[in-house]
Amino acid sequence: MNEIRVRFAPSPTGFLHVGGARTAIFNWLYARNKNGKFLLRIEDTDPERSKSELSEQIIRSMNWLGMIADEPIVYQALNIERHKQVALMLLESGNAYRAFETAEELEEQRKIAQRNKVPFKYNRASLNLPEVTIKKYLAEGRPYAVRFRVPEGITEFDDIVHGKTSFKNSDIDDFVIMRSDGSPVYMIAVVVDDYDMKISHIIRGDDHLSNTPKQILMYRALGWNVPEFAHLPMILDEEKKKLSKRRNPVSTEEYKDKGYLPEALFNFLTLLGFAPENNAEVVSKEELIKLFTFERVNKKSAVFDMKKLNWINSEYIRNTDTNELIVIAKGSKYLAENGIDLSKFTDVYISSVIMLMKERLNTLNDLYDFGEYFFKDPENYDEKGIVKYWVAEIKPLFREFSKELENFKHWSLLELEEKLRIFAENRQIKAAQLIHLLRLSVTGKTVSPGIFEVIEIMGKDSTNRRIYNFLQKN
Ligand code: GLU
Repeated sequence: MNEIRVRFAPSPTGFLHVGGARTAIFNWLYARNKNGKFLLRIEDTDPERSKSELSEQIIRSMNWLGMIADEPIVYQALNIERHKQVALMLLESGNAYRAFETAEELEEQRKIAQRNKVPFKYNRASLNLPEVTIKKYLAEGRPYAVRFRVPEGITEFDDIVHGKTSFKNSDIDDFVIMRSDGSPVYMIAVVVDDYDMKISHIIRGDDHLSNTPKQILMYRALGWNVPEFAHLPMILDEEKKKLSKRRNPVSTEEYKDKGYLPEALFNFLTLLGFAPENNAEVVSKEELIKLFTFERVNKKSAVFDMKKLNWINSEYIRNTDTNELIVIAKGSKYLAENGIDLSKFTDVYISSVIMLMKERLNTLNDLYDFGEYFFKDPENYDEKGIVKYWVAEIKPLFREFSKELENFKHWSLLELEEKLRIFAENRQIKAAQLIHLLRLSVTGKTVSPGIFEVIEIMGKDSTNRRIYNFLQKN
C-alpha cells in the first residue's frame, strides 16, 4: 500500500479555532495510527486577510497540542506560479475557458437569480464564444477570469465518514479557478498542492463537503489520482448552535491561557466526533493513536460540552506530575496578569500548594482563583465572614491566641491543630470559632482547604504577619 500522507491546511486569517484543532488532531491521529506522514500547509494566498502573526499563532498552538509536521511546513502563497500553470493547463485542454463578463454583468445575473429565488449559477455566456471573438477580446486587452467547465453527469465518491456521496453536476457552477487579475483561487490551489504534496487522504470539516465534487472534477480533468476524502462532523455549542466566540472561547490559545493542559484539550477535542471502542473518556495520546479509526467517527455534529472539558482537565491535573504543573504555572499568563510572580516562591512551596489544591482544580488558573492567598497577603476580608465570626466575645480570645501562635515553636499541622483545640477547650469556646477567624485572617476568605494545612504550608512568619495585619485592620 502507498504511504498514508495527510495534511492540515489552515488559512491564517484567524487564530487556530478549536474546530480546526480537532481537524488537525484527526489528521494527526490517522497519520500516527497508520505510520504515515502528517503535513501542515498554511493557506496564505489571500494577501489581504492572511497575516504572518496568525500563521505563527497557528503553528504555536499546534506545537502546544503536540502536533508537529513531519516535513517542512508548506506555505501555499509560494506555489502561486504553479497554481497558475495548472489553471492554464486546464484552459489549454479545454477543461476551462475564459469568461469575459465584468463584475457588473455578473452582479446583474446574481440579482436576476435572487429575484427568481433560485441559486445563482453562472450562465455560461462565454463558454461558446467563437474563436474570433475571443481573439478580438484578447487583442483589446479585455480582462477575463478562467472558469472550470463542469461536465455533465454525476460526481460520486466514497467518503470515509459519510459513505457514498453524490452530487449532480448540473447543480455545480462553472466555478472560477483564476481571477481576472491572474490570481488563482482556493479551489485550484488546494487541488494542486494536495497533488504535489502526494496527499493520500483529505480529512477536513463537513463545511468543505460541497467543495469536494469540484475538486474531484479537477483531479479527473488533470488525469490525476483522486485522493480519499473524510469529512468530519461539525462542532456545535451546548445550544446546538455553531460554536461562537460570543458564547465560548473558540481559539485554542485561549484555552491555554485559561489554564487547560494541552493533553486534556487534545483528549477532549478527539472525543468530539470520535468514541474509542471502550467508550473511555480519559484516554492518553498514545492510546488514542492505537484506537483511532474512522469506523468510530460520528456522522452527526458533536457538542462542545464545557463541563466535560473541565472534568477531563481536572483529571489530567490530578494525574500530572507536580513538577510539570509548576513549570506550566510559572509560564501562566493569567497568574502574571494577576500580579503573581511565582519566581518569588520556592519550588517546594509552590509544589506544596499545588499538592494541597490539586483535587479542587479544574484549570491551572483556579490556582489563582481558589488559592490567590498563597501568593498574596489578603487585602480585604470577606464581609459576611467578618459579621459572622469577628464577634465581640471572641475578639480578645483570638488576640490572645495569636500571641501564642507568634511564640509557637512546633509549626506543624498536627501540633497547630492540637494547640488551637486545647486553647479553645480551656477558654470554653468552640474550636470552630477560632478556626473561622484563623481562615479569615490568613486567606481573607471563608472557604479554603483545611486551614491547618494552609498555615503549615504558609509557614510561621507569613501566617503571623497576616494575622497581625488582620488585627490592625479590624
Ligand atoms: N484552508 C481551508 C480552510 O481553512 C482548508 C482547505 C482544506 O482542508 O481543504 O478552511
